[in-house]
Amino acid sequence: MKKKAPSPADGPVLVSACLAGRACRFDGSADPDDRVARLVAEGRAVLVCPEEDGGLGTPRPPAEIVGGDGHDVLAGEARVVTAAGVDVTDEYLRGARVALERARRRGVTGAILKARSPSCGKGRIYDGSFSRKQSEGDGVTAALLSQEGIDIVTDEDQG
Ligand code: SF4
Repeated sequence: MKKKAPSPADGPVLVSACLAGRACRFDGSADPDDRVARLVAEGRAVLVCPEEDGGLGTPRPPAEIVGGDGHDVLAGEARVVTAAGVDVTDEYLRGARVALERARRRGVTGAILKARSPSCGKGRIYDGSFSRKQSEGDGVTAALLSQEGIDIVTDEDQG
């Protein structure tokens, strides 16, 4: 069953900045989402891009989690690497902490994040093989936010 996005009465909502129209994806594109656009118009969207906030530029090489998911990265048991083998784990962890800080500061209890991203994905992410295959798991930021009690849906969960 699809999860419902946070309701209009629920206050501020953390959102992936690319869903709000910011061109911050690894390839320099955005992925605007109608429900997030409404939150922005209502002044309720709290934007985060954990990869930029962690210090990575745009555009940037795509990266995937190798050896587990975001929870394993937080536990020090998996890493985030680019296809060329560059380890960007520290940047992903820094970006996740920035997102959590921003959520706490604004009193956020719910989030709409970008599906399958190694940062923002919730429930399914790319599997670390750089072959577009997916596996169960959360991105690094989604893992940290959910461990801290923030309710997350993705753009693909919205009904
Ligand atoms: S999915 Fe998350 S990390 Fe990736 S561009 Fe969008 S906001 Fe940034």
